[in-house]
Amino acid sequence: MAKKKANQDQLNIKPVLLKGPKYFIQAIKSSLKGIKLTKVISTWVIESENLRIKVKNDGNTVFTGLIKWIGDRNDGSKGSVLCLSSGKELKIIRPTKDTVKQAVLDTEKLAIGINATTTTKCSVCGKGLDLFDELASCPLCDALAHKEHLYEWVKMRNSCPVCKKGISIDKNTNKIIAKN
Ligand SMILES: [Zn+2]
Ligand SMILES: [Zn+2]
Repeated sequence: MAKKKANQDQLNIKPVLLKGPKYFIQAIKSSLKGIKLTKVISTWVIESENLRIKVKNDGNTVFTGLIKWIGDRNDGSKGSVLCLSSGKELKIIRPTKDTVKQAVLDTEKLAIGINATTTTKCSVCGKGLDLFDELASCPLCDALAHKEHLYEWVKMRNSCPVCKKGISIDKNTNKIIAKN
């Protein structure tokens, strides 16, 4: 049998990761054997606890551990939420196109590698948005910010910090909506 090239085991999973857990799980299932998943509502729990993850931020390793579960975003936006365990602590990441440069799946090593970036700035506080941050955006201009910062801003001013148009927080859904 011909020897496989190293990069043949590396799958680009960024598109499916950003599309949503359903697509992400499909990609994992079809290329990895030996991973046992249990679906609980819209969350997939990795029972076999053997899918590793390494997160790098602009080249520096910031997290290594196991993926515990992969789920839907609860804010209605598309994409996946991943719960990671370092053995000592649990961390939630919500990868977006603004915080992820690369995401690859190494089918040989059962490991996901994410190359993150903090080049997109919060439109409220101006700091770089991180993969580990919870984000929110303006429904009118898509301006991104830390969720906590944008919600606080909207509560005080009822407008977007970037486009200045009227937005508010819907009392029923707790989502940011355009004012009419
Ligand atoms: Zn902020
Ligand atoms: Zn706006």
